[in-house]
Amino acid sequence: MTMASNNIQMVDLKSQYLNIKEDVDSAIQSVIDSTAFIKGPEVKKFAKELESYLDVKHVIPCGNGTDALQIALMALGLKPGDEVVSVDFTFAATVEVIGLMSLTPVFVDVDRGTFNMDVEALKKVITPKTKAIIPVHLFGQCANMEAIMKIANEHNIFVIEDTAQGIGAEYTFSNGDVKKAGTIGTIGTTSFFPSKNLGCFGDGGALFTNDSDLAGRLNAVVNHGMYKRYYHDEIGLNSRLDSIQAAILRVKLPLLDGYNKARLDVATAYNKAFKVIEQLETPFIDEKSTHVFHQYTLKTIGVNRDKLIEFLKTKNIPAMVYYPVPLHLQKAYIQPNLKDSDFPITMDLCSSVVSLPIHTEMDNDQLNYIIETVKEFFK
Ligand SMILES: *Cc1c(COP(=O)(O)O)cnc(C)c1O
Repeated sequence: MTMASNNIQMVDLKSQYLNIKEDVDSAIQSVIDSTAFIKGPEVKKFAKELESYLDVKHVIPCGNGTDALQIALMALGLKPGDEVVSVDFTFAATVEVIGLMSLTPVFVDVDRGTFNMDVEALKKVITPKTKAIIPVHLFGQCANMEAIMKIANEHNIFVIEDTAQGIGAEYTFSNGDVKKAGTIGTIGTTSFFPSKNLGCFGDGGALFTNDSDLAGRLNAVVNHGMYKRYYHDEIGLNSRLDSIQAAILRVKLPLLDGYNKARLDVATAYNKAFKVIEQLETPFIDEKSTHVFHQYTLKTIGVNRDKLIEFLKTKNIPAMVYYPVPLHLQKAYIQPNLKDSDFPITMDLCSSVVSLPIHTEMDNDQLNYIIETVKEFFK
């Protein structure tokens, strides 16, 4: 066994931390010294810095990425029975909050190349009750935002961009305008879960918007519906980013582009090595969006995926299936009127995708070892 086979992880948070340990430790210590644990200056500074990074008017930090989605739906004033369209192929949080709010989830299939919302499928499910669309920038690449915004604007529908996996990705419109993921729709949401591209050391999340009135509502919803302290104008939540997390994120935000570049470099090496393997389809890179490779996801064709994963495991390489079950088949979200044949791409992806380790600290030995091991399986 070579050195490289030691300790390969899907995400290596420890090595990343060790490289920034001094800055992170002193940032945490200074919050402790200040005892401004909640709503402290670090949170406000982080929000300002993220606003300037994203080029968006308002960043509203909150407790986590799932809350961010719920807060968006609450602030938009959606009512039980309103329909919210999202994708069948994503992490469940996106539709969980639709259900929690007694809204009606409407699932659509995804595009095979990008794994993102299929715009033709979206057009077919729009009804007068459709009040919001939640595209997910899955695995780090932007959904087809130009087409989605056009449909949304024609029908007066809100767009909430789930940017939990896409922070830092850039989308280019056909007129040449470039915008950061999460700043195109009515509201963008993200997560700072430790393994996300911009992760803190616990739970964290944020919302983005260019609409100042909406930002005011979002700020109230995250903090018990208060516009003025101890005056509760509406029912809100307790969902705040704490100061220690904000201080850590302030250390990591200036590194985000470098982190995303490191992920892209790993993905580029994988792509080069795997595109010659007939049973593997490498990720498609959309010319309209940069890819920040939250996950590196291959499609297997005509091979036993579980055997591949098993083989890699015996060589100490973790590999994961994101996601094994379409949302329309999850017990919590089953709708009897939905048929598997309505989601042919999602059905196929759930049984064929496999994600390989990708992170900011992967060295060449590890990368080459993974590449050679995958090749060995297909020999
Ligand atoms: C991680 C994730 C979320 C939820 O974020 P949490 O901070 O874990 O609540 C939502 N949507 C997507 C697509 C995610 O990947």
